[in-house]
Amino acid sequence: MPAQNFIRNFSIIAHIDHGKSTLADRLLELTGAIEKRKMQAQVLDSMDLERERGITIKMQPVCLQYQNYILNLIDTPGHADFTYEVSRSLAAVEGALLLVDASQGIEAQTISNLYLALEQNLTIIPIINKIDLKNADIKKTKAEIIGLLGCVHSDIISVSAKTGQNTEKIFTAILDKIPAPVGDQAKPLKALIFDSFYDDFRGVICDVRVVDGQIEAGDNIKFWATGAETEVLEVGIWTPAAKPKSSLQAGEIGYIVSGLKEVSKCRVGDTVVKLKVKSEKLKVKNFNLQTANCKLQTAIPLPGYKEPRPMVFATIFPKEANHFEDLRDALAKLKLNDASLSFKPESSSLGRGFRAGFLGLLHLDITLERLRREYKMELVVSSPAVGYQFAKNNNQVEAEPWVKIDIISQEKYIGSLMAFAMSRRGEYINTEYLLSVKSEKSPSERDSLAGKQLSNRVILHFHLPLSAMLVNFYDGLKSLTQGYASFSYEFLAYRPAAISKLEILIANEKKEAFTTFIHQDEAYYYAKNLLLKLKAEIPRHLFEIKLQAALSGRIIAAEKIPPLRKDVTAKLYGGDVTRKMKLLEKQKKGKKKLKAFGSVEIPQSAYLAVMGSAR
Ligand code: GDP
Ligand code: MG
Repeated sequence: MPAQNFIRNFSIIAHIDHGKSTLADRLLELTGAIEKRKMQAQVLDSMDLERERGITIKMQPVCLQYQNYILNLIDTPGHADFTYEVSRSLAAVEGALLLVDASQGIEAQTISNLYLALEQNLTIIPIINKIDLKNADIKKTKAEIIGLLGCVHSDIISVSAKTGQNTEKIFTAILDKIPAPVGDQAKPLKALIFDSFYDDFRGVICDVRVVDGQIEAGDNIKFWATGAETEVLEVGIWTPAAKPKSSLQAGEIGYIVSGLKEVSKCRVGDTVVKLKVKSEKLKVKNFNLQTANCKLQTAIPLPGYKEPRPMVFATIFPKEANHFEDLRDALAKLKLNDASLSFKPESSSLGRGFRAGFLGLLHLDITLERLRREYKMELVVSSPAVGYQFAKNNNQVEAEPWVKIDIISQEKYIGSLMAFAMSRRGEYINTEYLLSVKSEKSPSERDSLAGKQLSNRVILHFHLPLSAMLVNFYDGLKSLTQGYASFSYEFLAYRPAAISKLEILIANEKKEAFTTFIHQDEAYYYAKNLLLKLKAEIPRHLFEIKLQAALSGRIIAAEKIPPLRKDVTAKLYGGDVTRKMKLLEKQKKGKKKLKAFGSVEIPQSAYLAVMGSAR
């Protein structure tokens, strides 16, 4: 029997906090990959930050030995910003464990991840987790899963990843239900990159699934989309420590030490192919590499590759101007490991900084947090904005990104959720009841279930401008539903937008740092608010300061900071009126002079107040 029959490749998909990492740890422990006493909670989430936030940013595959079988587990990041990365990880496996917290039920990312898995035709093994909890509602959670998947009761495994109860059963299900990989060993190499990272000593290492063919050290390979070529230094598997192997064969999952220095050359989703020439030949003097390169062993890459597309932008400044170069270094180091981060220098009233692009708000948050923690950078950050599409000939915004958003919550919040989405320019699409989706249950059975702990829950579908999600969206949603809401979103399309340039003038002078693009309906409210903040932060001067907001060049809001009135007459007791008049006259002239020549000092606190450096 070919060795491929003894391989099972799978992933765990779940909503955040439903126990993915805990379960992965249990599987490592049960297969002896990690000894129990050496076990540190959540081995797979190795970054502190990830552990703190309970999210997995970086996935690390692990190769487990169970009986005669090789089980390759790939951990996936659990957030909407990384949908593409999740989809590539899922493309590398044949099955997925769908994990649902018995005290929470199905949540938004349970569903979005499930759809990603179904798009890859994966075999789904439904698992209910946290059955040890007092408020676990197994019956209700089962009903929701059956409603969603159309499976039967006996398909669902109920476990506690914490205590280990029933987790053994998961292995039997993996062996029985998930198909072995089918790849053709004899075909030219095609390997899918589902992660890559930079190692200080060895350069870029990529995690791959070998789809066809095989790969070994010394092979000359090419990365299809980026065109980068290199000689493989080493291949191997994660156990979870790196373990070199003589080769990786079709169906296997492992790593390639690429010898490259930039992760942007080995992007997630790209295909690794082989050049026809052996490495010894390349070393021969004057060998024509160019001709050899035309002779790739395969002509078709794997489907599904996408270029990273930044969706959210922000400008990052060092708090101290002389830390500009340090910030550049820190960003460059982060980029070594993050092909989706982009940045370029930018100058404004706040000094020199970097305009950076991110996949989403979480990606932005994580990057800032890492700059602060790992690189000890003190930062000032502009409020985030979405990436608009501009007209070619002028600087007018033509279109803005919209997203498709699914919100899961309780039935009683439907009204307020709709109002919430509408107030953010949302379009309501429809509502689905979790228990009736494809449910085979009779209505009476459904009613009896609905009264339980997880009260009747719904999925609301909206379309929303991405910009509407940038300010207080998550907090707003949580407070309006008392915490009982989860959401997931994905890019929908660019749509024409009534977006205009809003400029701020202080004493008739344009202040570029405050320029933003904004929807016309939201401009006045935003502008008024901004001017009031400036008014509170800019100290009074000897002259009056005019604050104005202009939308496409038209003033739509204005405020004034009254002048400081130095009481020049205070020293004059009694009634020398003429002298008093003279002094006041003199003061007036002085003020005029100041008005003409004086410049307004804008304290940094004013920039901070407006830019919302709270992020
Ligand atoms: P992830 O975000 O899906 O990776 O979830 P984690 O594995 O980080 O788990 C989230 C929280 O749930 C942690 O505090 C875990 O200790 C806890 N947890 C995970 N599985 C169980 C379980 O079976 N029972 C209980 N009581 N808690 C669990
Ligand atoms: Mg986790």
